[in-house]
Amino acid sequence: MAFAITQTCCADASCVSVCPVNCIHPAPGEPDFGRTEMLYIDPGTCIDCGACADACPVDAIFPAVDLTGPLRAYEEINAEYYAGRDVLAEASVAPNFHRWAPPDFGRILPSDFAPLDVAVVGTGPAGMYAVEDLLLHTNARVTLVDRLPVAGGLIRYGVAPDHPSTKKIGETFARFHDHPRLRLRLGVEAGPELAGRHDAVIYAVGATQARRLGVPGEDLPGSLPAATVVGWYNGHPDAAPVDLSTERVVVVGAGNVALDIARILTADPDALADTAIAPAALARLRSGKVREVVLLARRGPSDAAYTRPELLALAARGDLVVDAHDPRIAAAIDGAEPGDKAALLQGVPREAVDWSSPPPDGRRRVILRFHSAPVSFRGDTEIRGVTVSGPAGEVEIPAGRVVRAAGFRGAAVAGLPFDAETGTVPNTAGRVEGVPGTYVAGWIKRGPSGGIGANKECARETVGTLLEDAVAGRLPRRRRSGLRAKLRGRA
Ligand code: SF4
Repeated sequence: MAFAITQTCCADASCVSVCPVNCIHPAPGEPDFGRTEMLYIDPGTCIDCGACADACPVDAIFPAVDLTGPLRAYEEINAEYYAGRDVLAEASVAPNFHRWAPPDFGRILPSDFAPLDVAVVGTGPAGMYAVEDLLLHTNARVTLVDRLPVAGGLIRYGVAPDHPSTKKIGETFARFHDHPRLRLRLGVEAGPELAGRHDAVIYAVGATQARRLGVPGEDLPGSLPAATVVGWYNGHPDAAPVDLSTERVVVVGAGNVALDIARILTADPDALADTAIAPAALARLRSGKVREVVLLARRGPSDAAYTRPELLALAARGDLVVDAHDPRIAAAIDGAEPGDKAALLQGVPREAVDWSSPPPDGRRRVILRFHSAPVSFRGDTEIRGVTVSGPAGEVEIPAGRVVRAAGFRGAAVAGLPFDAETGTVPNTAGRVEGVPGTYVAGWIKRGPSGGIGANKECARETVGTLLEDAVAGRLPRRRRSGLRAKLRGRA
């Protein structure tokens, strides 16, 4: 028997450091870390101690023999990662590889270093990993600020309500809200006074703007950014209600957010009743008319943007259909080897969808249409449909709503430089050059890629840069008499 990591893996590597036999990979510092969809347990080395299951913040790890239903696939998925390869030998090419991780004392400040006052803006994963690092590894005092009245950021308002295990990591973060060296300030806009009152400020404000598609009709009423829909079903205070008085919704994009939206809009409302879904959204799902959600994927089945766990969760419901409009799709799926993303769709029904007909009565379904991109959104006063490119020419898909889920981008932060091309704040390892004492972490730092766990290493790098600057005397002299005066016996 071995343990296996499953669908909700957040890849923050909390499990790696507790494994007594170093059989969870890729680990931080290894070349694959941050590039795989999840972490994997080597079944040939695992000694079934269960330590990783206890450490996992999202309840993703179970004994393989206990896996049932769609989770059964994860025994093989974990094993596949190690098949025919020596992962440790491959990892050993990394410059900081260590077969047995020795203690890392890179964070220890001089013993006479007076506490820093650090403000962290944003209570999502990047902000909370920065807070965790500061509170656990330094004697810093932290002011945690969020413009919203409820903490949690992406975990509270971005993770789908039917993913309770993933949302559980919010409890892990929330334990720091009561830390004696932390002051929590909710419902507060971060302004320039933060910099005046703290030695350093870390902005971890995420990237919530929708990436523009640049197609005609994009701004018609009824064309919604993904963040609006996600915020609506999660009860975000800024989110407007979503009108569901249409039978078909087109979602542009096939990443995990797009799959979340398709899954929620076509779910049986009774199945969502016991989840964290906003009551108003649940009521609207009950009274709404949506029977079909069409996901437009620009690429083919082998290169789709969704991760394997998200597709498996959607396919397990049994209402997924692949639009067989292009012969390349069947060829990719039927010829896929194990490990190829296209193989996940073997067994999923295919249909040459007739878009001139309304969605079939009596059932809800999700249609996955590969090799398709929107050419224009049609409608006079509101969305009536989408013109989609395809190998046989353009196709009209009638739809009353379009959700733009083709990626996010960050918004400019007042007082900080901004790269409008990437939607990020330019930085060097988290340091905002030209604005001393100012740092960024998470998506506003590196762009909107990587899941929850990717923010751990990202925030760690930023905190490391901040501490380097503190020790080197590069923080600005603010409300106190300067950092050097804080170094008792050194000023
Ligand atoms: Fe490592 Fe124990 Fe988890 Fe197996 S069960 S992966 S040995 S921590």
